[in-house]
Amino acid sequence: MSDNVEKYIKRKVYKSTSSDIAQKFVDAGLEQMRACINCGTCTGSCPSGRRTAYRTRVAIRKALTGDVSVLQDIDIWLCSTCYYCYERCPRNIPVTDMIIKLRNIAVEEGYILDSHFGLANNIFYATGHGVPCNAENQKQWRDLRESYGLPALPPTVHSYPEAVKECQTLMNEVGFKDLMDNAAKLKEERKAAAEKAEAEKKAKEEEKS
Ligand code: SF4
Ligand code: SF4
Repeated sequence: MSDNVEKYIKRKVYKSTSSDIAQKFVDAGLEQMRACINCGTCTGSCPSGRRTAYRTRVAIRKALTGDVSVLQDIDIWLCSTCYYCYERCPRNIPVTDMIIKLRNIAVEEGYILDSHFGLANNIFYATGHGVPCNAENQKQWRDLRESYGLPALPPTVHSYPEAVKECQTLMNEVGFKDLMDNAAKLKEERKAAAEKAEAEKKAKEEEKS
């Protein structure tokens, strides 16, 4: 590496990567992110970015410089984890792992999309399946399985319903349920604060008129 590149990394990148989010990356063993030279190869490689406004480099940059708006940005959920950026990064940065970590941090901070929360909390935790097929109104999935010569129900918790409780115990032990409960609480608090601010704004406008 030339002296100039070395200087650039230290001056423009290393010093700007001391945010709380960056520290969480370091704690997760992703300290290589400090070698990012902001080249944009990850963005140029990204199939999701070709069809959406998602820009990998921008998400990484925001995270490293402590721009917490990235946690609320729907874009970070548009990564398909194809690992193309990971393969092509000239600095060998595990970009995909960073995006996954960014999502983890977002969920810890209560920025989980409603659809993901519903799937994780109301379906996966409750039934032990991401796509359950044992309910009365899910016959189409059982029919589909049978059309492929498979048993109507897979050999999972659907065939052993008593194991749902054990799955939930495991999820409780690893903190999954606490994570979901905390996310729900934070979402609710933010919603209430936004409604309060909106009501106050409206009241002020009415006062003026
Ligand atoms: S490809 Fe690697 S070095 Fe280039 S901007 Fe993306 S993460 Fe940084
Ligand atoms: S892993 Fe995600 S960010 Fe990287 S190229 Fe694939 S879709 Fe884009």
